[in-house]
Amino acid sequence: MKPAPFRHHAPLTLDEAIATLSEVGHDGKVLAGGQSLIPVLNMRLAQPAHLVDINRVAALDTVTITDTHVRVGATVRHAVLQKHDEAYAVLPVLRQALRNVAHPAIRNRGTTVGSIAHADAAGEMPSIAVLTDAVMEIAGPRGRREVAAADFFEGPLQTVLEADELLEAVRFGRFGASTRTAFLESARRHGDYALAGVGVAVDLDGQGRDAVVRRARAAYVSVTDIPVVIDLTEAVAGQSISSLTAGPSALEAVEELVQAGIAPEADIHATSEYRRMLAAELTRRALTLATTEEDA
Ligand SMILES: Cc1cc2nc3c(=O)[nH]c(=O)nc-3n(C[C@H](O)[C@H](O)[C@H](O)COP(=O)(O)OP(=O)(O)OC[C@H]3O[C@@H](n4cnc5c(N)ncnc54)[C@H](O)[C@@H]3O)c2cc1C
Repeated sequence: MKPAPFRHHAPLTLDEAIATLSEVGHDGKVLAGGQSLIPVLNMRLAQPAHLVDINRVAALDTVTITDTHVRVGATVRHAVLQKHDEAYAVLPVLRQALRNVAHPAIRNRGTTVGSIAHADAAGEMPSIAVLTDAVMEIAGPRGRREVAAADFFEGPLQTVLEADELLEAVRFGRFGASTRTAFLESARRHGDYALAGVGVAVDLDGQGRDAVVRRARAAYVSVTDIPVVIDLTEAVAGQSISSLTAGPSALEAVEELVQAGIAPEADIHATSEYRRMLAAELTRRALTLATTEEDA
């Protein structure tokens, strides 16, 4: 199908984009990479009268690294962030997760910030936003505001963004040098949305196999309504890497914690119970990977 008629706005500055969004209000939608919005328009599941295309606003196309964050502007493509060596060096979990987002063609157009604004709990980057305690930079006609990732997602495909607001950038929080990360997911075909996925961050005390876990956290894909973090610290704190990786039973407490912490939906692809077991198993493997591989 083709979309219902709409008016295309192509602002050149952020102020112009916000002014246009403010004028069109609930009749408008932001157009970023279009990889989620255009299919929805084509199927006529949404029929906005105005599209505010932000792709010509040069200021939104930047990745900035600070001591505390990797700041990603609203039009930065998944593929650009994935290939960004400086971002990878300071926050490897971005690339670890991004290589699982759809196919290269979609990553070439789709934006990381758009995926977070879209707030699909089957998307990888909303879960990375909560895992890294990201800060959402929101711009609108009433000025700018910042919202923590933990408070940003309100429900499936729902966020705190008002119709006239733009998610200008997302600041992903950097971990300390002692934190290791990994991202794993299982999909029916590579590039499909995951049946279940997990990103983990493990804070270690010491070096090598004798290093001891101080803290561990995990955020999930496709098994929770909204992206959430499960704190795994009580199951692993104080254990050395060698004891953690001694065998599958060493991480049983982690699996129990995960299974208790999620209640996945069933659909045509998998039962709730299968998804729950998959998430627990992926968490076990991701923790092992994060603590044993140089580039997890
Ligand atoms: C076949 C296919 C497979 C896919 N597989 C995956 C996958 O495995 N994992 C995954 O995570 N994603 C997947 N995607 C989605 C892809 O990652 C999208 O690019 C992403 O979800 C949305 O980003 P976008 O820039 O394309 O946003 P758009 O499609 O332009 O917009 C999506 C929504 O977010 C709003 N929006 C976008 N940017 C902003 C902003 N800055 N401020 C306010 N609102 C905004 C729009 O108004 C719209 O409602 C897939 C898409 C397709 C078509």
